[in-house]
Amino acid sequence: MKVIVLGAGVIGVTSAYQLAKAGHEVTVVDRQEGAALETSFANAGEVSFGYCSPWAAPGIPVKALKWLLMQHAPLILRPKLDRAMLTWMLQMLRNCTAERYAINKSRMLRLADYSRTSLAEVRAETGIGYDERMQGTLQLFRTQQQLDASAKDVKALAADGVPYEVLDRDGCIRAEPALQHVREKIVGGLLTPNDETGDCFKFTNALAAKAAELGVRFAHGTNIKSLGKEGGRIVGVATDRGWLSADAVVVALGSYSPLLLKPLGIKLPVYPVKGYSLTIPITDASRAPESTVMDETYKIAITRLGDRIRVGGMAEISGYTNDLCSARRHTLEHSVTDLFPGGDLREASFWSGLRPMTPDGTPVIGPTNVAGLFLNTGHGTLGWTMSCGSARLISDLVSGRKPEIDAADLAIVRYS
Ligand SMILES: Cc1cc2nc3c(=O)[nH]c(=O)nc-3n(C[C@H](O)[C@H](O)[C@H](O)COP(=O)(O)OP(=O)(O)OC[C@H]3O[C@@H](n4cnc5c(N)ncnc54)[C@H](O)[C@@H]3O)c2cc1C
Repeated sequence: MKVIVLGAGVIGVTSAYQLAKAGHEVTVVDRQEGAALETSFANAGEVSFGYCSPWAAPGIPVKALKWLLMQHAPLILRPKLDRAMLTWMLQMLRNCTAERYAINKSRMLRLADYSRTSLAEVRAETGIGYDERMQGTLQLFRTQQQLDASAKDVKALAADGVPYEVLDRDGCIRAEPALQHVREKIVGGLLTPNDETGDCFKFTNALAAKAAELGVRFAHGTNIKSLGKEGGRIVGVATDRGWLSADAVVVALGSYSPLLLKPLGIKLPVYPVKGYSLTIPITDASRAPESTVMDETYKIAITRLGDRIRVGGMAEISGYTNDLCSARRHTLEHSVTDLFPGGDLREASFWSGLRPMTPDGTPVIGPTNVAGLFLNTGHGTLGWTMSCGSARLISDLVSGRKPEIDAADLAIVRYS
């Protein structure tokens, strides 16, 4: 089949790779001049199967109000007269019940677990490298109150069968030796040893090269203008470089997915939630992290990527803008220098990306009511983590094969 994948972020590229392996003739279309140049460019570098859970959770509305008032706020709200923003926020609030949280989390964990095995397979069959490490995520608590509050996370991890270790101060230092210099600032931690780390940009580009070897064609520098439908079936895509016809189209446009679907009458509740990162060259490895450390106080992830530290986080609801706000940079600098001052901040690069967030945290993967049109989008906070399983699923669905995990409740039909 002739399949067009829209978007060359981590979701589009992993999808294209699996579709090519399934024997399809695949073209990937993206406006950028290379792969992973938008949200997949400089994320926090966690492949965190253990922490796959929705942001919409019981107690979050109250916590969010507190976060909004913090000096180094993890959440920033810039309200606008934007119907999509308001609708999305209301839908998110509706998902903050214990019942919805349990359903949404179980969907995300199912996909994350499948992604863990799928990523291992991709690594084994391609041999690609991306500054990857397999040393887990350490959630770091600076106060006894945070450590006590983690009891419910521990309970949830145990219930979900996710391996974990509760660590005291010395245990944290054993996992992350650089913390010995700031031992008085930490109380304890929660380690999920099965989590991985790496550079999503390097991963996506290395996999794109493997996909190209399998015959995938990349149409970079191509702006997609609209989707073509005839008689209830997708027939191709109009771009600024001309018409491309297809038997099937997979939409993997991240935060921009709803904009192209709207003219077809498909309402996709994906909204951009901006995050920021700093990438810092390491000058003193003894004061740098070994893996990912989640600073619970600021909700910021600090990750070792080869000879660099990547520090990323924050959720800014401000619409489709990539503006770089200096106050956010200060928050990232504050968190990283407080714990791991082993890098040269003058040489750091500051970046922002738009997480494609669904109100229920779960991505949207599957068919639509237009024959031949499929969605693989809305991966939000942990898109790289969930990418390889999502790609296998979409490839099976496009190919008319039964997916290896239950996928019916991941499709857009769950919102109707
Ligand atoms: C600060 C931050 C930290 C994060 N940390 C992590 C982490 O540690 N671990 C993790 O798993 N996830 C993390 N994420 C989330 C993860 O990065 C995203 O979920 C993921 O990158 C989304 O990938 P995507 O392919 O859907 O979107 P994108 O990477 O944005 O790809 C979409 C592509 O569509 C193209 N496009 C859009 N519109 C058009 C058009 N009209 N014409 C042509 N091309 C178009 C864009 O150019 C882009 O290349 C983080 C995100 C942020 C912002």
